[in-house]
Amino acid sequence: MKNSFAELGLGPELLLELTSLGYEEPTPIQSQAIVPLFEGRDLLGQAATGTGKTAAFALPLIQKLGKTKTVPFKPAVLVLVPTRELAIQVSEAFHRYGRGLGISVVPIYGGQEFHRQNTALKRGVHIVIGTPGRVLDHVRRGTLDLSAISVVVLDEADEMLDMGFADDLELILDGAPDDRQTALFSATLPPRIASIAERHLKNPARILIPRDKDTKGTLPKVRQTAFIMPRSHKIIALGRVLDLESPTLALIFCRTRVDVDMLAERLMGRGYRVEALHGGMTQAQRDRVMKKARGATVDLLIATDVAARGIDIEHVSHVVNFDVPVSPEAYLHRIGRTGRAGREGVAITLSEPREQRLLRNIESLMKQKMEISKVPTPQDVKAKQMKMTSAEVQKAIVAGDLEDFRAVAKSLSAENDPLDVAAAAIRLLHEAAVGMDHGEDDIHIPEIEQFSGSSGHRGDRGRRPGGFKSGGPKSGRRRDIVKPHAARGHQEKRPVGKGPKKKH
Ligand code: AMP
Repeated sequence: MKNSFAELGLGPELLLELTSLGYEEPTPIQSQAIVPLFEGRDLLGQAATGTGKTAAFALPLIQKLGKTKTVPFKPAVLVLVPTRELAIQVSEAFHRYGRGLGISVVPIYGGQEFHRQNTALKRGVHIVIGTPGRVLDHVRRGTLDLSAISVVVLDEADEMLDMGFADDLELILDGAPDDRQTALFSATLPPRIASIAERHLKNPARILIPRDKDTKGTLPKVRQTAFIMPRSHKIIALGRVLDLESPTLALIFCRTRVDVDMLAERLMGRGYRVEALHGGMTQAQRDRVMKKARGATVDLLIATDVAARGIDIEHVSHVVNFDVPVSPEAYLHRIGRTGRAGREGVAITLSEPREQRLLRNIESLMKQKMEISKVPTPQDVKAKQMKMTSAEVQKAIVAGDLEDFRAVAKSLSAENDPLDVAAAAIRLLHEAAVGMDHGEDDIHIPEIEQFSGSSGHRGDRGRRPGGFKSGGPKSGRRRDIVKPHAARGHQEKRPVGKGPKKKH
């Protein structure tokens, strides 16, 4: 299998873009799909969300189109997706990857005025990404011409069928030129999908991104908790969770190198001893980091999966998934780094609302529910820190040897309330231990309520960005709702670690 984007035949502009995004190596679906798509073959891919399948079809198509620099009047690529949110998301991905190649993309979906979409279509675009209903409407009105379409991608085809788009799909496919290339991606391949593939794909390359075998029984002793929050609040939330958990050594996984660096900087600013590991480092740099981590002079080791491969450290107390891993197997592999040698480990996963479906995939592989905890509030963190300070004072009382200090306390108490004297002394100790208040500590992180819809319901692809209520997907789906004024300070009871990190 080809192990780098360059080996897959991507050009320098795209390689540059991927490096800046921090993608270190292709995911399995990318390794397998990019070459046949380049070659112009039809493709039938069974792969779920989170496997990197968007890039798997976007990258080769962008590169092919990049050769025709001028924007054509008629679009050359049509991507069909089940929902408005996915149309936007896939458009953003094409836009991001295709920046250096001048690729123009337009999402078209129901709910938005025709007028805006018409203007964009009239101007001319390379790629149209749309929901089947709205695409068909445009075709019928004569505002979208399919006669120059050379590639059609059906993304999440099973979902499009579930949403009742079967007839629309047939009409669109019949209306596109016969000699086009077609790629169909679907998380499942029920007979209805197989029959669409049979009729509309010609000798397709078949790709199956399989689930690993059931790995149950090999699980280490790990307490697993997930926190759900909008992406914009992830770093602040992680800071609070770490303050409460006080890991001896946490291994924090990020999807990309860019995230690793960003997180390292922010957490260092929070007073942690942080080291980063990513694929862009030399072997000597990596060895240095590993030595530090083994020598217990590191609190947090932040890494991509690729960089963390093969690292072996005994005393990882916490594994943190800054993103929900792209596959349940990757999750298992990551959390296997903690809970070794009979010690209890902790696995913490930060999930965006739209990633909840990935959490459910993990639950079903592990055959066990994941505990969802409330993101700690600033008050939770402060309460924990106060408890730590109080414990320190108690320890000093027990240790005794306070004669000199008793004399100072006595003289101060002659002119002040003795309770005030003690409180002021504790305050000084507390501030020295906890450090300055972070401006961000008071930020309110909206609470996201889980709706436990019928389990195993495939309708919820969790595509609403940020989990806000939207008019998008149809009935019967699980909803994520952000409660803007959620009550603060009632964090679920759960064991906590040793206490907040001391600064300096
Ligand atoms: P998708 O399955 O297309 O929804 O992609 C899931 C996530 O993985 C997206 O956030 C992508 O930006 C990210 N991603 C895709 N390919 C890679 C890669 N090769 N390395 C790191 N992250 C990736």
